[in-house]
Amino acid sequence: LEQIHKTYHNGSPLHVLKGVDLEIGKGELVSIMGASGSGKSTLLNILGILDDYDSGNYYLNDVLIKNLSETKAAEYRNRMIGFVFQSFNLISFKNAMENVALPLYYQNVSRKKRNMQAMEYLEKMGLKEHALHLPSELSGGQKQRIAIARALIARPQIILADEPTGALDSKTSQEVMDLLKEVNREGMTLVVVTHERDIATQTNKIVHIKDGIIGSVEILR
Ligand code: ATP
Ligand code: MG
Repeated sequence: LEQIHKTYHNGSPLHVLKGVDLEIGKGELVSIMGASGSGKSTLLNILGILDDYDSGNYYLNDVLIKNLSETKAAEYRNRMIGFVFQSFNLISFKNAMENVALPLYYQNVSRKKRNMQAMEYLEKMGLKEHALHLPSELSGGQKQRIAIARALIARPQIILADEPTGALDSKTSQEVMDLLKEVNREGMTLVVVTHERDIATQTNKIVHIKDGIIGSVEILR
């Protein structure tokens, strides 16, 4: 990211990002910290090509994102990026297997293949026996592991996680963090927004966002 600016205009204009410069390397495990309202989710949504920015440049693997048409941007996003959210964002009327399989639906994979691959990922997450359960029948930790399986199934290069442990108790948080670290060790680039210092210190570097810019970067390992 080079000098990224973002202002929201619904209501009185709110200049949230005021020239963000940030480089994230392939295979890195990065956390983003900052006060509530400082723009962490805004930044993550820009990284995830879910939201656009007003000025500056965002290059993802040397592709300048603002030059892509909306269709191309969506294709690129679906191919490159998996998302994990604090509130899991599972589809309530679909079972665990169907939730995990969802990204493959958008890649026109047949239902049989989708479900087979979803079962493989559920097995990896230790959730095979919950395949037919609805989200309402699962614990928070189980729901987040299903969301992570869903993020992984399309084999993205990057996982963006917005407070993935925010709704979980500390033991379950650590289990989810262990899983994300394992995913990173297998080569995936991972960006985790978190309020929790204990989570952030497990990453390679902590990026602090303050007053609309990157205030400091702590290199940990
Ligand atoms: P939190 O830690 O509470 O999740 P955050 O750092 O993720 O906060 P953002 O969600 O990025 O913060 O929001 C930054 C600012 O932009 C906030 O003041 C918020 O109210 C505002 N904001 C976020 N999304 C929108 C939107 N779609 N329209 C208008 N304002 C928005
Ligand atoms: Mg947020």
